[in-house]
Amino acid sequence: MLRGHSMKTETMAGLALVMLLFSTSGGAQDATRSKHDIEHIEKFKAVVVEGVEARRKLAQVTNDTVFSFGELAYQEFETSKYLTALLEKNGFSVDRGIAGMPTAWVARWGSGAPVIALGSDIDCLPKASQKPGVAYREPLVEGAPGHGEGHNSGQAVNIVAALAVKDLMEREKLSGTLVIWPGVAEELLGGKAYFVRAGMFKDVDAVLFTHVSDGFSTEWGQPNGTGMISVEYTFEGESAHAAARPWRGRNALRAVELMNIGWDFRREQLRPEQRSHYVVTNGGDQPNVIPPIASVWYFFREMDFENIKKNYEIGNKIAEAAAMMTDTKVTRKVIGTAAPRHFNKTLAETLQANIERVGMPQWTEDEQTFAKAVQRLAEGKEDGLNTRLKNLEPPPARPESGGSDDIGDVSWAVPTVRLLYPANIPNLPGHNWANAIAMATPIAHKGIGAGSKVMAMTMIDLLLRPELIQAAKTYFIDVQLKNHKVLPLLSQTDQPQIHLNRETMERFRPEMRKFYYDANKYETYLDQLGVKFPTLTKAR
Ligand SMILES: [Zn+2]
Repeated sequence: MLRGHSMKTETMAGLALVMLLFSTSGGAQDATRSKHDIEHIEKFKAVVVEGVEARRKLAQVTNDTVFSFGELAYQEFETSKYLTALLEKNGFSVDRGIAGMPTAWVARWGSGAPVIALGSDIDCLPKASQKPGVAYREPLVEGAPGHGEGHNSGQAVNIVAALAVKDLMEREKLSGTLVIWPGVAEELLGGKAYFVRAGMFKDVDAVLFTHVSDGFSTEWGQPNGTGMISVEYTFEGESAHAAARPWRGRNALRAVELMNIGWDFRREQLRPEQRSHYVVTNGGDQPNVIPPIASVWYFFREMDFENIKKNYEIGNKIAEAAAMMTDTKVTRKVIGTAAPRHFNKTLAETLQANIERVGMPQWTEDEQTFAKAVQRLAEGKEDGLNTRLKNLEPPPARPESGGSDDIGDVSWAVPTVRLLYPANIPNLPGHNWANAIAMATPIAHKGIGAGSKVMAMTMIDLLLRPELIQAAKTYFIDVQLKNHKVLPLLSQTDQPQIHLNRETMERFRPEMRKFYYDANKYETYLDQLGVKFPTLTKAR
């Protein structure tokens, strides 16, 4: 997809059209829409909220079970098996192994328009294993992966909401298709671009994506953060005895070092918005063997497509220069990409109205005390759980740099919005074991419930008000795509690196299996672990 910058007049025309649509879909049409329709929508919303309430147990079990699996990117086998079985049991048809990823799937139910696709990530992070519900560091399995970002909760939000809406659609014979899909390998930015390339969203009208947060909010336009290309460079030289005949060798590790030095010197001439970082993934075997092979893995992040690609090209050039200096050969492999994000205005406004109706969960004193204890533990500001909603603000005039999320790729393929639901504790480091502590406790369970209600009510809006789908499309085509130049970050030959994390997961899974949640035996995962919530200090 390649679109040029538009003329200013086109932008104005686009905006004017959108404003016109909003005024007709918002004011005038609402006024002319029969009172009957509005009553219908209100009644239906009440029914699906009840449907979510009635599935509180299902939400807790789904969340706690996925938490206990703790699977890394591309290795989400138990998680996907469990979620797809649950969806099939509830009448969804499931396609597995989507886009060349064994753990990817797409579940569908219903027929006809609109097609609403609900997504949420499912993978976890290395070394983040942590017992939930205790305000101290204690891994469940030492060194094992864990849900240090709370990706165990999002599918519970979506599935519960979808099942509540499905009940109503069946009863009222409403037209519409519900699609549920997982963010596979989000922590490697390695799933969604492949979904898009495989055409998974071709017939989809709107994507409602959910992500764990400590607040309850949504956004439109380009938020803070970056897009990126993740790429591994491998240098190949020749080994030799490092002391006896070093002149016979060609040192691949030296090439990696020269590439890194080259890149670090070049940083000074890059835009301050860029973020780039690397890890050496192979530095050789032992000092007396000149490393014949060495690899380094880079993330190149920038604010827009052009600058991401530009820095990637610079990186490629420096890699080739390093190979030239060391008489080695370099090859590269793209491991993941993430487009900069752009969220849909109409969908965000629809979500926000429902967020305001649901409101923040009511936290108990125990939950607040626990949150503050975890904040103290993680050396974050000790102000407890969020109690207030944020307003829907216009996007920042100049978005700030920061992290990336491959939901960006989806957001350029179909009108997309993201719901952040309040299931975690604020002021934690992120990508860290401390972020796992609340994720199988009443804090997460309440946040999931609130998120599900908003999702279910938003689906009702989209099913019963076709003008919203239309306005979302108009924003997507006439504002978003018209004003931004979209460049492909993934090539046709790049493939998902599904071997990643395989060995790590195979190493830890037998130990982790002992901690899988058995919902038939235990009311909650905390019960199974013998954790009394909240536990503030470690028993001596
Ligand atoms: Zn995430």
